[in-house]
Amino acid sequence: MKPSLIVHGGAWDIPDEAVDACKQGCIQALGEGWKILASGGAALDAVEAAIVSLENDPVFDAGFGSHLNAEGKVECDAIVMDGATLRAGAAAGLQRVKNPIQLARAIYEKCPHMMLAGEGAEKFAREKGIVLCKPEELVSEAEWEAYLKCSEDEHAAEHHRGHEQGTVGAVALDKDGRLFAATSTGGTCCKLPGRVGDSPLIGCGCYADSLAGGVSCTGYGEAIMKIVMAKMAVDLLGRPQQGGASGTESVKQVGQICMQQLAERGRGTGGLILLDKEGNPGFAFNTPRMAYGYVADSGTFVVGI
Ligand code: ASP
Repeated sequence: MKPSLIVHGGAWDIPDEAVDACKQGCIQALGEGWKILASGGAALDAVEAAIVSLENDPVFDAGFGSHLNAEGKVECDAIVMDGATLRAGAAAGLQRVKNPIQLARAIYEKCPHMMLAGEGAEKFAREKGIVLCKPEELVSEAEWEAYLKCSEDEHAAEHHRGHEQGTVGAVALDKDGRLFAATSTGGTCCKLPGRVGDSPLIGCGCYADSLAGGVSCTGYGEAIMKIVMAKMAVDLLGRPQQGGASGTESVKQVGQICMQQLAERGRGTGGLILLDKEGNPGFAFNTPRMAYGYVADSGTFVVGI
């Protein structure tokens, strides 16, 4: 089977000055994931490597550089899902895990449950050999400054212009036909402590089913949750499309239907990346911009905003 990889770095009103950094971050993540897939490696390793790269880049809202909550703290969520077994590993409300996707993977591989939150999740991380960091180590200068402005004044988008943000995601198919999807986020800025959005929830921010395809979402979590968008997208990938569309055209149609549902029924904005079961990539967003990248048939990296 031909391997395939797609990543995203968040859908929002990305300002001009952040465009290059977002594209660069997507290229870097594709490079990390593709190295693995192109040499015959596993989709799980590829999505993990791509997401770790995106989490470590403060240009994105995941891991280091995540948005701060209303108390000035980072609280991260992440998930990875296996299309073959429908098993996932998810973690929410993390304050001391540098790479939340690594904990999500440990939960997927080593935990009898599929989702852990807060202290329990961090305890499990420690038991599985994931070194915890200090909460402050996840706070970037730009996010701290934005937080101060939000606390002095009303929380406003302008405070965040010129500093960059965006949930991250990846979907990969490997040469053996294994399909994995993953999402990692710091959530929304100034959220209440304890708030969990769509990102780590199976079917909302992420879903994978080898019989249909894999999806990672981004955007206003409360709206994405209402329509269970990732599951909606995968279900649509598994059905014949309008006019008998197939391949990339069909994936595109699915993305568009989801955006229409997100706007009309969810009353929100966001975006998603998709791979169908053959590895055809697609993406859609109803925000001004979304950072995304995928590997074309020729093996070249295509990135866009
Ligand atoms: N979906 C994320 C959340 O609501 C945020 C984002 O994608 O920008 O937590």
